[in-house]
Amino acid sequence: MIDKGSKYNIIISSRVLLIAVALLLSLGTVNVFANEHFDNSKTIVFLGNEKIAPIIYNEKGTAKGVVVDIAKELGKKMGCGIEVRAINWDEAQRMVLLGEADALLQINPNPEREKLYDFSDELLKSEFSIFIKNGNPSIENVDDLKNKLVGVESGGYPFALLQKHGGINIELISDWKTGFLKVATGEIDAIVVDRWIGEYELAQSGIKGIQILNEPIETQYSRIAVKKGNKELLSHINSGLKEINEDGTIADILSKWKGKRVIYLTEESLKSTLLYSVISFLALILLVSLYWVIKFKKLSKKLESEVKQRTQELHDANELLRKANAELEKISMVDKLTAISNRRCFDATFQMTWGISMRERQSLALIMIDIDNFKLVNDTYGHLAGDECLKSVAAAIKSVIKRKGDMVARFGGEEFIVMLLNTTEEGAAIVAEDIRKKIKSLAIKNEAVDSVITVSLGVAAVIPNDSMRPDELINAADKALYQAKKDGRNKVVRQSILQA
Ligand code: GH3
Ligand code: MG
Ligand code: MG
Repeated sequence: MIDKGSKYNIIISSRVLLIAVALLLSLGTVNVFANEHFDNSKTIVFLGNEKIAPIIYNEKGTAKGVVVDIAKELGKKMGCGIEVRAINWDEAQRMVLLGEADALLQINPNPEREKLYDFSDELLKSEFSIFIKNGNPSIENVDDLKNKLVGVESGGYPFALLQKHGGINIELISDWKTGFLKVATGEIDAIVVDRWIGEYELAQSGIKGIQILNEPIETQYSRIAVKKGNKELLSHINSGLKEINEDGTIADILSKWKGKRVIYLTEESLKSTLLYSVISFLALILLVSLYWVIKFKKLSKKLESEVKQRTQELHDANELLRKANAELEKISMVDKLTAISNRRCFDATFQMTWGISMRERQSLALIMIDIDNFKLVNDTYGHLAGDECLKSVAAAIKSVIKRKGDMVARFGGEEFIVMLLNTTEEGAAIVAEDIRKKIKSLAIKNEAVDSVITVSLGVAAVIPNDSMRPDELINAADKALYQAKKDGRNKVVRQSILQA
C-alpha cells in the first residue's frame, strides 16, 4: 500500500522531471533553431591587417597568409562561403563595427577592444618580441626600452603594450622593411612586433644584423573578432575552430608557414653549428667507412672460405682421380713403360692357355728372359736411360715373336716372359736364341762390363696334364734362366738339360 504522503511525493517528483525534460527540449530547440538560422548561403567577409605577413598580407591583389589558410579551412567546416581581405588595419576594424564586414582575423583582445567586439577562442600564439641590432648590449629586456626609440605599427597591439609600460619613445613605422633597416643602421633602437611577423619580414627582405630577444614582452593568443553581439556567427566560428584544431588542420598550416621564417645565427651559434656540422660529417664518414670495412671484411672472409672450400673440393677430386687411376692401372693389362702385356695379363692368359693345351695335348713352352747386369746400366747411365733400355729390349723381343697366340709380357723389373703355343722345348730354344742374338745386335752400351746389353734366357716346355700346376712350368723356366746366369750370362739354357 502507498500512503498519501508518498503519493504526493511521486506526483511532485514526476512534475519536476517533466519540467526538466521540457526545459532541456526547449534548450535543444533553441540550439537547433540557432543552427538552422545560420545562413549558409551567405558569404562571410573576414578582414585582416595587410601589413602582418606572413599572418596575413596581399600578394598580387589576393589575401595570403597563415590566418587566410586557417579562415579558408574554417569556411569549409562552417559550410559557408568565405571571403578574406587584407586591408589597412584601422579601416578593417571600422568596417566590422559598421557592419560592412563580418569578422576581424588575428586580433588581440584588450579592454578597449572588448567593449566593441566579441572574441573567438584562441587562434594563433602571438609572442610580442623585441628585435634589436645584433649584439646591442644595452637592451636585454622590456625594461631596457625606457628612453629608447622603439618602432611599432599604428593601431596594433604592441602600440598599446608599449604605452602601458611607459617611458618609451614610440615611433610609428609605416612598413616593416623600413623599420628594420632603421634598427640595422641604429636610427631607432628596437622594434616590437609579433615574432612570426618580424622573423618572416627579415627572411623575406634579407636584412642582416638584426636579432630577436628570446624572452617575449608578452605572449598572447590572437583571436577572431565579430561585432559585439553577433553571438550566432561567433558560435559557428568557435565550433569550426575547434574542429580544425582537433583534426590537426591548424597544426599542418602552421608547420607549412614556419619554414618561411628566418633562422638566427649568432657568431657563437654559428661556430657551434659549424662545429656540429663538421663533427656530424666526420662521424658520417667514419660510419660509412666502418660500414664498408665491415662489409669488405665479411666479403673477403666469405671469399676466403669459398676458396678454401673449392681447394678442398679440388683436392678431393684429385684424390678420387688418383685412386681411380691406381685402380685403372691395377685392372689394366698393359705395362705402362714398355707397352707390352703386363704380369697380370700374362697370368690370366697363361692359365687359360694351360687349359687349352691340356685339352689339345699340345706342348706349351715358356722362355724366361732377364737382362744381364742391368743394375749397372742404371748405375752408369741413370734410371731414365735404364727405362729406355727396357723399352728397346721389350720391342726387340716382340719383333721376334710373330706367331698368333704367342705372347710376350713383362714379368717384373728387367725380366720378360715369352709364352709359345704348341711349341716344344727345342722349338722354343731356337726362338730364345733368336731373341738373344737380336738383343745383342741392338748394341746398347753397358760400359761397366765393357760390353753391350745382353740377356740370359731359360727355356721350358711341357704337355700340361692334371698332375701338374702351371707354376711348375714357370719355375722350370726360371731355374733354366738361373743356370744361364750361372754359366756366365748371354746364354740360352734349356730346362731338360738341367734334369739330365
Ligand atoms: P743379373 O745379370 O744377375 O741379372 O744382374 P742385374 O744387375 O741385372 O740384376 P739385379 O737383380 O741385381 O738388378 C736388376 C735391376 O733392374 C735392379 C733394378 O733397379 C732394375 N730395374 C727393375 N725394374 C726397372 C725399371 O722399370 N726401370 C729401370 N730403369 N730399372 C729397373
Ligand atoms: Mg732380374
Ligand atoms: Mg738382370
